[in-house]
Amino acid sequence: MEIETLAIHSGRGVDPATGAVTPPIHMSTTFQRAEDGTYPQGFVYGRSGNPTRTLLEECVRDLEGGADAAAFSSGMAAIMSVFQVLSSGDHVIVPQDLYHGTARLLLERLARWGLHASFVDMPDIDKVRAAILPDTKLILVETPSNPLLKITDIAAVAQLAREHGISCVCDNTWATPILQRCLDLGADMVVHSTTKYLGGHGDVTGGMVVSAKDSALFPEVRAIQQDGGAVPSPFDCWLLLRGIRTLPYRMRAHSENAARVAAFLEGHPRVVQVFYPGLPAHEGHETARQQMNMFGGMLSFRVRGGPEAAFRVAARASLFTRATSLGSYESLIEHRASIEGLGSATPEDLLRVSVGLEHADDLIADLEQALDWGG
Ligand SMILES: *Cc1c(COP(=O)(O)O)cnc(C)c1O
Repeated sequence: MEIETLAIHSGRGVDPATGAVTPPIHMSTTFQRAEDGTYPQGFVYGRSGNPTRTLLEECVRDLEGGADAAAFSSGMAAIMSVFQVLSSGDHVIVPQDLYHGTARLLLERLARWGLHASFVDMPDIDKVRAAILPDTKLILVETPSNPLLKITDIAAVAQLAREHGISCVCDNTWATPILQRCLDLGADMVVHSTTKYLGGHGDVTGGMVVSAKDSALFPEVRAIQQDGGAVPSPFDCWLLLRGIRTLPYRMRAHSENAARVAAFLEGHPRVVQVFYPGLPAHEGHETARQQMNMFGGMLSFRVRGGPEAAFRVAARASLFTRATSLGSYESLIEHRASIEGLGSATPEDLLRVSVGLEHADDLIADLEQALDWGG
């Protein structure tokens, strides 16, 4: 079945009790046993399992072409569960420009628990190979990366990992399964911040871990979900399911709009550089063309005149809201270095844009006036 159809029909079914076409939100925290003491529907208690959560997990599992999925209360809780599968003394390899929250988790939280991390320039496969240690258990891939949109060859890293008996996990938040099929490319698991494109409406925080068939790590992820308890509420699961129904069409529109905005910015005299994998000049363009269906809704650009000029553009834009995050229907613009804080390697003149679902002509006109001041 094609992905548009899966997005509509997976994790759905007419409610047998009422005939409701849209699945109900099951709020119950506990479930009745049969007279013989068993649980006929398989649900026992809200932390360990909930029918609305199960529908969401089935839907995202199917979109990623996976074998199983576990929903979490945030993207960070999902990523945390993957690291918690590992043991003290283990080593992980992550990208240099990893999502800053994940980097902080490794450096400031998990290092104290004895989990060691190497931050490498992941698009360079030789650097990944050179970073492998006897205790390396996991390689985390994030592509396109944040905020420079660097592209890592997922199949190459997954194969390298397999040769060394290491698990390869992809953070597919930015591309989504609509644009990029990490499990098909050889990854063992996929993680998501469903807060972003999967939810798509800026109104729910969530995370997901999806496993390939025979993933050695996933049973532990499931146990950590149920025992650790960082589970999403039934209402959050329902909101996510509603958002996902339109994901294939939203990703197309985000990508088309971003391609037009990137082309406009690339030709503007006040713009030093545009980072968008759909641009032929982008250093990861060829790899992106091979592993992505479209190039997504995220881009960043450097403004001539340093951080003051960058802040000025963000302040002058009116259709782009100055806020962090991404993947919702509305466009956002953000001075990235100042949210990443001390130690950020992001250029001070860089703005990151989440291109929304407004008309591209209006977005371009707004950026044009925002970039146009005297001097
Ligand atoms: C936002 C984000 C996260 C963290 O997810 P939360 O839902 O905010 O916890 C992780 N990875 C990437 C790539 C993200 O964009």
